[in-house]
Amino acid sequence: MEPLEKLRLLGPATCYEPAEEVEGEGPVRQLPSDLARCIHHAVMPGGRRIALLKTLLSSACERDCLYCAFRAGRDFRRATFSPDELARLFLQLHQRGIAEGIFLSSAILGGGPQTQDRLIATAEILRSRYGFRGYIHLKIMPGAERAQVEAAMALADRVSVNLEAPNGRRLAQLAPHKTFEQDLLQRLRWIHEIRRQMEGRRRPSATTQFVVGAAGESDLELLATTGFLYRELGLARAYFSSFRPQPDTPLEGLPPAPPAREHRLYQASFLLRDYGFEVEDLPFGPDGNLPLEMDPKLAWARRHLAEAPVEVNRASREMLLRVPGIGPKGVERLLRARRQARLRDLSQLRRLGIAADRAAPFILLDGRRPARQLSLWAL
Ligand code: SF4
Repeated sequence: MEPLEKLRLLGPATCYEPAEEVEGEGPVRQLPSDLARCIHHAVMPGGRRIALLKTLLSSACERDCLYCAFRAGRDFRRATFSPDELARLFLQLHQRGIAEGIFLSSAILGGGPQTQDRLIATAEILRSRYGFRGYIHLKIMPGAERAQVEAAMALADRVSVNLEAPNGRRLAQLAPHKTFEQDLLQRLRWIHEIRRQMEGRRRPSATTQFVVGAAGESDLELLATTGFLYRELGLARAYFSSFRPQPDTPLEGLPPAPPAREHRLYQASFLLRDYGFEVEDLPFGPDGNLPLEMDPKLAWARRHLAEAPVEVNRASREMLLRVPGIGPKGVERLLRARRQARLRDLSQLRRLGIAADRAAPFILLDGRRPARQLSLWAL
């Protein structure tokens, strides 16, 4: 099979692995539609935007995870790149200005360590033989060895481990042959340790991914693990991928997870990472799930701030971050502005880039509730 033909099969197969791509944007540039499905607008860890090639090295998996489209024995057209072949193809796309960076994952073929070797070899060829200095995101395979994790981290800008489930009990319902602690979580612990040893050098960031809605897990389980990963292992980001049943898999009869659930999980995970929330602060229902119909920050504020509004001229940074409409950048601007002058009306907040109408029901401005609050509260 020609390399481009392989890419047409293996690029779109990464749709199950969300990464740095920006959802909902048009094609990066005019490309044949099948190739366009492999190249994504992506935001880099520092905020820069690039065109990112996302592809698997192979879809010929020897494992049989119960939910997965690539599981062994499923009848579809599979493909495998050699490291040389993929590195050469990427270089051509890069030289033509089509792709500026690469996200590289793989199904497991010949065991986790052997698969990891091929991923590392691809990145090694790009860096050493072709002198590529751009963005590389490498997946760490279940069962990869510590020396391989170190090698991957020396080459990549970002590495990631797919935890898939929030704990061992749930993972057993998705991937009975993987162990949560030994095969997966241990790799994230190593990444954290290695990052600390790389102090002062360029350090790759680390992410993970959960499948949502396939193992009966609650949002509380997912977010408790996410909070632990942010707090203890310095994770840069958790991705949530809604379960979509695949024909001819043991879980084909399960309903798909509602996209709104994925959205609420992202919102809640950002509250844990960037807003100082603890898992206990999140507004879980009795079933351990977040309300689908409301932003979790708004739900928290309605419970806690409606009767005890925050005085924006005096409140701490931590308390201001609890107010809907005030984010990490807005709060810094607000803190600077209030050192210069008292904040007395919503238009001042708007000029600071704050979503003042969202904040209005939960704040005081110089001791008074903002004028628009009552009508907004009634909506
Ligand atoms: S190891 Fe990965 S690619 Fe293979 S069946 Fe499991 S989830 Fe799918």
